[in-house]
Amino acid sequence: MKHEVVIAGGGPTGMMLAGELTLAGVDAAIVERRASQELAGSRAGGLHSRTIEVLDQRGIADRFVAEGQKAQATGFAGVRFDLSGFPTRHPYTLGLRQNHIERILAGWVDELKVPIYRGIEVTGFAQDDAGVDVELSDGRSLRTQYLVGCDGGRSLVRKAAGIAFPGSDPTTSNLIAEAELAETPPEWGIRRDSLGIHALGRVEYEIRNGEIVYADHGPVNVLVTEKHVGQTTEPTLSDLSAALITVYGTDYGIHSPTSIARFTDAARQAASYRKGHVLIAGDAAHVHPPDGGQGLQTGVQDAVNLGWKLAQVVKGTSPESLLDTYHAERHPIGARVLRNAMASIVLRREDERTKALRDTIAELLGMNEPRRRFAAMMSGLDIHYDLGEGHPLLGRRMPDLDLVTENGPLRVFSLLHAARPVLLNLGEPGAFDIPPWADRVQLVDAKYGGPWDLPALGPVTAPTAVLVRPDGYVAWVGDMTQPGFADALTTWFGPPAGT
Ligand SMILES: Cc1cc2nc3c(=O)[nH]c(=O)nc-3n(C[C@H](O)[C@H](O)[C@H](O)COP(=O)(O)OP(=O)(O)OC[C@H]3O[C@@H](n4cnc5c(N)ncnc54)[C@H](O)[C@@H]3O)c2cc1C
Repeated sequence: MKHEVVIAGGGPTGMMLAGELTLAGVDAAIVERRASQELAGSRAGGLHSRTIEVLDQRGIADRFVAEGQKAQATGFAGVRFDLSGFPTRHPYTLGLRQNHIERILAGWVDELKVPIYRGIEVTGFAQDDAGVDVELSDGRSLRTQYLVGCDGGRSLVRKAAGIAFPGSDPTTSNLIAEAELAETPPEWGIRRDSLGIHALGRVEYEIRNGEIVYADHGPVNVLVTEKHVGQTTEPTLSDLSAALITVYGTDYGIHSPTSIARFTDAARQAASYRKGHVLIAGDAAHVHPPDGGQGLQTGVQDAVNLGWKLAQVVKGTSPESLLDTYHAERHPIGARVLRNAMASIVLRREDERTKALRDTIAELLGMNEPRRRFAAMMSGLDIHYDLGEGHPLLGRRMPDLDLVTENGPLRVFSLLHAARPVLLNLGEPGAFDIPPWADRVQLVDAKYGGPWDLPALGPVTAPTAVLVRPDGYVAWVGDMTQPGFADALTTWFGPPAGT
């Protein structure tokens, strides 16, 4: 059996990547160990602004927004940021649990008719100069041009490819569970002590006036820091009960768990996101503590960075070297997430010195400029790929402006629904002509008279034209006379037709 791309793992990263590749006309299949999309236990709790924008670029953000709850939950080291004034259509965090995020993504992938081998594991692979033979747990094998490991933090693909995973060992260990309590605790929400952070809350909740209001019955989410680090066995109900008694003096009669999992503050990042015809993305490429709620966001955005590039390489429109820009762009973003998540872990501690440091940071984040920068970082809106010197938009996300075209009003993001690049000419209509790339790049003449405001930078000068990549990042800014226009088209979308 053959597919142009095989994706190991159908979590959020794998599904997003499969959708991106399929939109670009690539035959991509997912191999997923789980028999259904059902997710045991609680993981990510929502989507940050840039991730919602990325979904909006594909025309599917509404599906998530319709089911989630808007809140101002972006923060750092205990300081919450209000994104209300940010120049984005989504200046909020969307409260939506990962099982719902995965269900909605699975619905999209299903509409796109992505083949999924469910209940099957990738058990190994062998790569040669032309591609990869992927071994499956049912004894079959798949031949593919590229294998992408979206198979989570313990990624078999990463290990089998021999990609190093340097980083720091755990200093704290947490249990996270969903269970029933026989007694109602006197307090819900977060508790901190010398061990670390703990939290109790009903699974069902509503956000009213910006505050979480838990349901008055039903199962409970438990997060509790364990006394000791380094347990290697699967966590049990009695581990959970013991950890609760240590912190709360009682286990509140905890029973009937539907999931119990252990996670730590280990932070590791793959030394390389690619080895030949094997790539990795999402948790397979980076693991870190969940502080700041960034893991799923980073994985989905890895997929959106990689998808169109891999599609162009598979289709032969771009050379393989385009794939090197995936590591070059996304590795620094992953490293930054690790850095801020590790800093958050240190700042969680409850000793007097750490409290003093937390207060100092809170004071700094009370100032406009630092607050705006950190809010833009934690929401992902400030992501900047290093594409060289130039207009501030270069390498940054294209804002979702309300344009006016000959055919009426048009949102920038609607031009990205099909995951195709766009040359947006905001100057003299007809000023651009790109026949050698017309098969790949949409050329749109439009007018825009409003402000140009970037979340981390503030107002910037209005550009005459922008070349926007399928992932929504600006690859070139200027006018026809500007040097480098043909080079940018070639770098990102392949050589001119007929050469
Ligand atoms: C307690 C906790 C809280 C979190 N909170 C947040 C949050 O608030 N916000 C946030 O953004 N992130 C959060 N995260 C992180 C988030 O859950 C992960 O970053 C995200 O799930 C990563 O997605 P992924 O698709 O890369 O990997 P995974 O979700 O791990 O998916 C990997 C998939 O691969 C499959 N698989 C594994 N091995 C194989 C194999 N050999 N063959 C076939 N299939 C395989 C698995 O079954 C799985 O479906 C949290 C994580 C934890 C543990």
